[in-house]
Amino acid sequence: MSEHVFGIDLGTTYSAIAYINDYGRPEVIRNSEGDETTPSVVFFESEYNYVVGREAKNGAIVYRDQTVSLIKRQMGTATQLEFFGQPFFPETISAVILKDLVASARDATGIDTNDVVITVPAYFGLAEKEATRQAGEIAGLNVVGVITEPVAAALSTGLKGDAEKSLLVYDLGGGTFDCTIMRVSPDGIEVLVTDGNRLLGGADWDSMLFDLVAEKFRNQAGLSEDPVDDEDFAQRLLTEVETCKMTLSRKEKASIKCSFGSAVEMVEITRAEFESGTRHLVDQTLDIVARAMEAAQEKSPGLGYDDVLLVGGSSRMPMIETSLHERFGWTLTKTEFDLAVAKGAAIYGQGTAGWVDPVTGADTGAAAALGDVPQDDSQGRTLLIGGRAMTIANVLSRSIGVQFVRDGAHPGQVEEYIGFLAHAQASLPLEIRETPETYSDDTTELSIRIFEQTGEAESETIADNREITPEAGATFTGLPRLPKGSPIEVRLAIDAEGLATLSAVEPRSGQQLTVTATLSVMQKEELAAATKIVAGMQRAV
Ligand code: AMP
Repeated sequence: MSEHVFGIDLGTTYSAIAYINDYGRPEVIRNSEGDETTPSVVFFESEYNYVVGREAKNGAIVYRDQTVSLIKRQMGTATQLEFFGQPFFPETISAVILKDLVASARDATGIDTNDVVITVPAYFGLAEKEATRQAGEIAGLNVVGVITEPVAAALSTGLKGDAEKSLLVYDLGGGTFDCTIMRVSPDGIEVLVTDGNRLLGGADWDSMLFDLVAEKFRNQAGLSEDPVDDEDFAQRLLTEVETCKMTLSRKEKASIKCSFGSAVEMVEITRAEFESGTRHLVDQTLDIVARAMEAAQEKSPGLGYDDVLLVGGSSRMPMIETSLHERFGWTLTKTEFDLAVAKGAAIYGQGTAGWVDPVTGADTGAAAALGDVPQDDSQGRTLLIGGRAMTIANVLSRSIGVQFVRDGAHPGQVEEYIGFLAHAQASLPLEIRETPETYSDDTTELSIRIFEQTGEAESETIADNREITPEAGATFTGLPRLPKGSPIEVRLAIDAEGLATLSAVEPRSGQQLTVTATLSVMQKEELAAATKIVAGMQRAV
């Protein structure tokens, strides 16, 4: 492992990459266009060439069929795209973004490393986290850590763990929102609660503004035809409203020049109009904050908030700060919005690799500097942050359960349902033991199927959950014709990273099963093929 590790914020709309500079400080590395953030947009120019970033984003209208954006929303799903006859999974597209970010960073810094830490939203489940790790692998990188964005944001504020405090992180990005509550002590960071909505972000503000502008344009120009039905007009307006939204974060009004056919109009939007049109979106985030606070109070009664961090590009909108203040009375700590997460990832990376003493400049490996600190990953990951050993302990982001059967509503009917063993927000690591019983007489075979919650709330309905049983399955066979009501001892253990291991014992036969749910949507061969495709591709010049 190299002494340098790049920290990557792989965002839905923008990404950033940082490292620890010669002064021991986290620094975001500018891309080849001189920007600190890079649009997470990929344009496939040919079978062998890609363009990532601003140019790809600008060309998205003209080259719609060769351009991909918002791929993070598909991570962990079985989506498959095709370009120039080659299959591309969300992992492969993300790999191209990662490859490009690292190539730029290597060029800019001269640092020759493939070691990276990648951040993910707090509420990503096992599938999405694994997909992110695999994206790194496909890009030929050595992923030394996948950490959550709020933890990275907290690290970027220079936490030293020298005082006890509690933090709330409000993170509104381009496509996602999450709220995380954590406690920081000399021992480390303990996440208490994390909550969010993976389909709520700046893009929703864009789309509200889009509707607002389009309506004004229609009225001003007296159009009988709806210009938004025209794909070119719609694409162009979508890009322009994002710029207009950013202007409204600085100014009270902004205008957009709209043209459709012979109609040309300057459409003016005030900040007040924009704010009232998107009030319901802000309220959705505030409701999630309130829900997270309630859950945190249950875990830690009387918990107060010493710091509230605003993270994510969309937190720049003044309405966010105002409404948080109005509803909760908080004064907020602004982070570097879209750079904090990458910087935190770099700090984490350095914590796992080498540590530069800020005073002497001496470079010590974390292992040496940690000395006798036990590296017990089951209790969370121990890192060297600011010269102090800190453990980062997380919570389970999605509930995990097993498929059971029970009597249905009508006689003789059998109903399958998910019985949850571990609930979202449970502190990690955890271990749960339960003894369910067989449903029918003469049971000789029994399959155990593990599921992870997909929606915002637990649901017993199978379709509302995602199966995470490993491909090989987990089945007891040749059981001694167990009568109905025979016990099966089940143990579910989830480690600090959220990796679930389920073991089960049938006491009569003594048969034992152990399965680890490392969910991967991609098959091994697909992974190898994707790695080959990405290795064979280059940035277009
Ligand atoms: P992130 O995913 O954290 O990089 O956030 C990206 C989102 O932040 C996008 O939806 C941007 O449009 C939005 N954004 C960036 N700057 C501003 C700004 N000044 N005002 C409003 N939204 C912004």
